[in-house]
Amino acid sequence: MSPSLPKTQKVILIEENGESVDVLKYVDSPTPEITSPHDVIVKNQFAGVNFIEAYFRKGIYPVQLPAILGREASGVVAAVGDEVTKYKVGDKIAYLSTQTFAQYTKIQDSLQAVLPVGKDVSDEKFKAYGAILVQGLTALTFITEAHNVQKGEYILVWAAAGGVGRLLVQLISARGAHVIAIASTDEKLAVAKELGAEFVINSTTEDINAKVKEITGGKGVAATFDSVGKDSFDISFEALARKGTFVSYGNSSGVVPPLPINKLSPKNIKLTRPQLFGYVAAPEEWEHYTSTLLKLIDSGELKFELHTAKLEDYKQVATNLESRKTTGKIVLEIPQ
Ligand code: NDP
Repeated sequence: MSPSLPKTQKVILIEENGESVDVLKYVDSPTPEITSPHDVIVKNQFAGVNFIEAYFRKGIYPVQLPAILGREASGVVAAVGDEVTKYKVGDKIAYLSTQTFAQYTKIQDSLQAVLPVGKDVSDEKFKAYGAILVQGLTALTFITEAHNVQKGEYILVWAAAGGVGRLLVQLISARGAHVIAIASTDEKLAVAKELGAEFVINSTTEDINAKVKEITGGKGVAATFDSVGKDSFDISFEALARKGTFVSYGNSSGVVPPLPINKLSPKNIKLTRPQLFGYVAAPEEWEHYTSTLLKLIDSGELKFELHTAKLEDYKQVATNLESRKTTGKIVLEIPQ
């Protein structure tokens, strides 16, 4: 039997799309209810913040309005439908789903993107698990599936002190490749260097392509991991070596405009525009990559920097993230 839940809950809601963060509202909203036998309601404790929320808010990616934001969280199972056997009330999980910037989120027991967490997990780890899945799995899958990074390769990493960027820097360096980290300030570049980047380029003050040529002896890089999008596309393209791979995986500065396919021919460039879910869709993929990620985190091999904020302060968090003021990962503490 499931305990009764409060009628309303606190959430971050958008009722309309907007460039401005002013469309983000911290409001009371109906708590989800069990309406089918396979429903599971999770009482969230921590929810990771990702840049993707800006795209849903602005309408760059479509979303049905009104919408509660959020893509990942860790929390405790609070109620289950009659036919749920996989979970019981009190189980702790970390998971990927929409609508996690909320006290309660309804998922289905068939949702595959769930990581069971032992009941004795420390608060610190529970917080980390609620904030590492999107960015950790993105970095981990992309360096094998989007471009299988090899020892000795020169690899360009954009926004190298950001959430995904700093994980890419560590994982690519650990493979024995030479990371060329790009970021907009010297402070951010110092973070990237500390995490293993061999070379750093300040995108505000330096000529990126001149520096890449100098570092690679004129050859260019084997791959570029480019999350910046519109503003960086041409620079990344020029930086690639013959037969290089362009991993375009984000739109932080805006969406990359369509390009003629012939553009790829002169250097035989491979261009890929991956999304995480396409690499962890099969149960064995989810299992493989999440267990690898947990091992890297638990052993301390993969370091991530967590900043905690309150759910009610998400508007300020989004402002900081989108104006390039943050490094590392921000996690929201959900009121209990
Ligand atoms: P970040 O922490 O990397 O924050 C974004 C960073 O982008 C900024 O700190 C800034 O770094 C850089 N940036 C460059 N130009 C701009 C601009 N005009 N406005 C804002 N930021 C800019 O965010 P995340 O780690 O959460 O995400 C990184 C990117 O990866 C996002 O584009 C996200 O959508 C994408 N992503 C894609 C996934 C996929 O499946 N394809 C999965 C996860 C993330 P600097 O100041 O150093 O330039």
